[in-house]
Amino acid sequence: MVDLKGQYNDIKDVVNPSIQEVIETTAFINGPKVHQFQKNLETYLDVKHVIPCANGTDALQIAMMGLGLKPGDEVITADFTFAATVEVIALLQLTPVLVDVNKDDFNINIEAIKKAITPKTKAIVPVHLFGQCANMEAIMDIAKAHNLFVIEDNAQAIGANYTYKNGKKVKAGTIGHVGATSFFPSKNLGCYGDGGAIFTNDDNLAHTIRGIVNHGMYERYHHDVVGVNSRLDSIQAAVLDAKLPHLDTYNKSRRNAARKYNLAFKGIENVITPKTVNGCDGICDTCDCHVFHQYTLKLKDVNRDALVKHLNEQGIPCGVYYPIPLHNQKAYADSRYNEADFPVTNQLVKEVISLPMHTELDDEQIEFITSTIIKFING
Ligand SMILES: *Cc1c(COP(=O)(O)O)cnc(C)c1O
Repeated sequence: MVDLKGQYNDIKDVVNPSIQEVIETTAFINGPKVHQFQKNLETYLDVKHVIPCANGTDALQIAMMGLGLKPGDEVITADFTFAATVEVIALLQLTPVLVDVNKDDFNINIEAIKKAITPKTKAIVPVHLFGQCANMEAIMDIAKAHNLFVIEDNAQAIGANYTYKNGKKVKAGTIGHVGATSFFPSKNLGCYGDGGAIFTNDDNLAHTIRGIVNHGMYERYHHDVVGVNSRLDSIQAAVLDAKLPHLDTYNKSRRNAARKYNLAFKGIENVITPKTVNGCDGICDTCDCHVFHQYTLKLKDVNRDALVKHLNEQGIPCGVYYPIPLHNQKAYADSRYNEADFPVTNQLVKEVISLPMHTELDDEQIEFITSTIIKFING
């Protein structure tokens, strides 16, 4: 699904000495590389504060802690996403409220959010699934009207732009009150281990969060709030700082691969290619609105299990993200949920399949993957 080795070979000459420098200076924790990466990411995202942390799940949890959410507060998020999003809501004893998504962009559905709001609702967590933003303009309007916080789960969309109706462009993850991202190796900006970060333009919130990531300390050995220990280590920061200047190029390679996949599947009725909904109708490089963390098809009248088996036999990796709606997962099932409220997610989990997507995909690989699928479908 991903080719991390090819990407490493290209940046080896920068990454290796940078890691070596961390080792020679033994500044393993909170070293100058962490600060340098933080500053460079703030500039790239055009956001006032980046707070690095240990992974994307922590980033979400710390963001919610920083906002002062309390047990029993309801937090609305998407039913069709990776479990980390709902996991931290539950861990903090907040009440997750799962809602349905859109069939075209797989992102949280605006009408479903509106329907789910109660007097206990305190926050909305849109997940920018597979690399493009949820409808943030509508979400921010709802949040303003109901006095809610918006926490963007940007683990899959770093580098994506969001375009407002008036044409203004901003980076994904910097629109809500706070954004959270992951630098897991297979993410669009991945390190060589675990890593994550929190973004915000709010000075007070940034200050609160800087303490929370460091055991609730604002002054050494004075613990003002209950915190956690969540740090990005200096070696990971060195890797990320070497990769950040290439992020736009990486995302462009992904878009190129997506465009080629789309072209190859043109006219194949059983295959619905992914739709780009913010800013442009197709996959264009000027608007940068989709960074294709995953390239996900919807299959119509195709035996997905048989296709997966066939692809694996041909040596083609593929994935089903995600096979079970969160509201049906044992850990998150709840009698409050009604199947009739999740028509889209319930359908998507049966239809989706994600194809190999990374920065090193070449034409020959794409042609082999697409022709294998088309031949299978045409019998
Ligand atoms: C990867 C991911 C996370 C969690 O990131 P980790 O760094 O693995 O903890 C959270 N949300 C989404 C949508 C993700 O894809």
